[in-house]
Amino acid sequence: MPAHPAARPHGSWVPMRRDHPFGLQTLPYGSFTGPDGPPHAGVAIGDHILDVTAAWPALAATDRDLFAAGSLDRLLAAGPATWSHTRATVTGWLGDAAHQESVSRFLLPARDVSMLLPFTVADYADFYASEHHAANLGRMFRPGSEPLTANWRHMPIGYHGRAGTVVVSGTPVIRPRGQRRTAAGDITVGPSLRLDIEAELGFVVGVPTAMGQSVALGDFDRHVFGVCLVNDWSARDIQAWEYVPLGPFLGKSFATSLSPWVVPLSALEQARVAPPPRDPRPVPYLDDSLEAAWGLDVQLDVALNGTTISEPGFAQMYWTAAQQLAHMTVNGARLRTGDLFASGTISGPTKDSRGSLIELTWNGLEPLTVRGNHRTFLEDGDEVVITATAPGPAGTRVGLGEVRGTVLPHPEHTVPPGAPSARAGNR
Ligand code: MN
Repeated sequence: MPAHPAARPHGSWVPMRRDHPFGLQTLPYGSFTGPDGPPHAGVAIGDHILDVTAAWPALAATDRDLFAAGSLDRLLAAGPATWSHTRATVTGWLGDAAHQESVSRFLLPARDVSMLLPFTVADYADFYASEHHAANLGRMFRPGSEPLTANWRHMPIGYHGRAGTVVVSGTPVIRPRGQRRTAAGDITVGPSLRLDIEAELGFVVGVPTAMGQSVALGDFDRHVFGVCLVNDWSARDIQAWEYVPLGPFLGKSFATSLSPWVVPLSALEQARVAPPPRDPRPVPYLDDSLEAAWGLDVQLDVALNGTTISEPGFAQMYWTAAQQLAHMTVNGARLRTGDLFASGTISGPTKDSRGSLIELTWNGLEPLTVRGNHRTFLEDGDEVVITATAPGPAGTRVGLGEVRGTVLPHPEHTVPPGAPSARAGNR
C-alpha cells in the first residue's frame, strides 16, 4: 500500500482492487443497518462502508447532526455548499493515509449490513425520454399510426407514480394482480402474465422550491443531489388495458425498485456529454442549446438470472434530467426534498440495447434464449439485476451499484413456467 495518496491520485488507503467501481472517485451515500441496530448513513468505499452517522460527530468540525437520523434526508435538504464540503471531507478522510488511524474504526465490511431506502421518497414521477423506447412501444401498442405521439418531441412526457411503493434493491417483487383484456376481448382478473422490467436512471431532489417557482435548466444541479438506478417494474397486460386516457396506474404502482447507493452528480463530471440533436428546437424553457450539457454517458447492464440480456446506454436519451426537472416545475408545482424522478426506460437503437422485455422480445413474439431456455416475460423466481458505470477521472469508472429484485408468485395464484409467452394477448 502506498504511504501517501499522491502515489495514486484516485486511490484510497482502504484495501480494494485497483479498478473498483466504488473507489475514491465515486463515494456514494446510502443507509444501512446491522443485525439489530438503528439505521445509519454510510459512504461506500470499495467493499467497505464508512459509517458517517458514527464518524461525523467524532471527526467532523461542523454540522455534527448531519447524519444523526441515519438517512440522507438532512444532507439532501442542506444544499450544494454542504454537498461539496461533505464530499471533500470524506475524500480527505479516505484518500489521505494520515487519516487512516482515526477513520478506520468507522469502516464496516459491506457484506455485514443490510441496505435500506437511502432517503424518504417524497413524490415519484417517471418519464419516457428514450426516443427508441417510445417509438418501439408506439409501434406495438398503436400499430398503423405514427410511433411517436404529436407531443413527444415538444415536451418530456411523464406520469406521477406511487412513492409509497418505491422499495430498496433486494426487496422481493410480488407478482401483481389486475384486470386484463384477452385477445378475444374478454375481461379477466388475475396475476399479470406479462410482467416486465424497465431499466432507468433515477434523479434525487435535495433542495425544495416554493409553490409557483420553476427550476430553470441552469439551476438543475442546485436542486438535484444525485443519481441512482431504478427498475420500474411494469405489468404490460394490466397497463395495456388501463392506460387510455390517463396513463399508467396499477400496471406500474405495485413496486418500483431503487439502488441503495446515491451517486452525487459531482462524481459524474467526466460522464457529462452533449445530448443528441433535437428537432424541432424545444420551446425556450426546454432549450438547452446554450446551457451546460446534462447528457450522461452511463452504461447499463441488465441481467436475467445471471445472464446479460441488454446493455443500454444513457447518453442517447432525447430529453435530459435537467429538461425533465424544468418541465416538471414549469407549472409552478413545488419540489420537496426526497422527490424522485426517473428517466424512463433506457433503450438504444439496437436490439441488444433495449431496456425492457417487451422490446427485447417484441411483445413476446421473439423470445430470448437465456441459459438454453426461451424466455419472454418474467416468471416467478426470476431475478433481475441492473448495474451501471460511468467514466470517472484518470480512466477510472464510477459505479452506480446495482438494483436487484426477485419475482415472487402472487399469494393466491401461481403462473406455470412458460405461461406468459403462451397466453393472454394484451388488448
Ligand atoms: Mn418507466
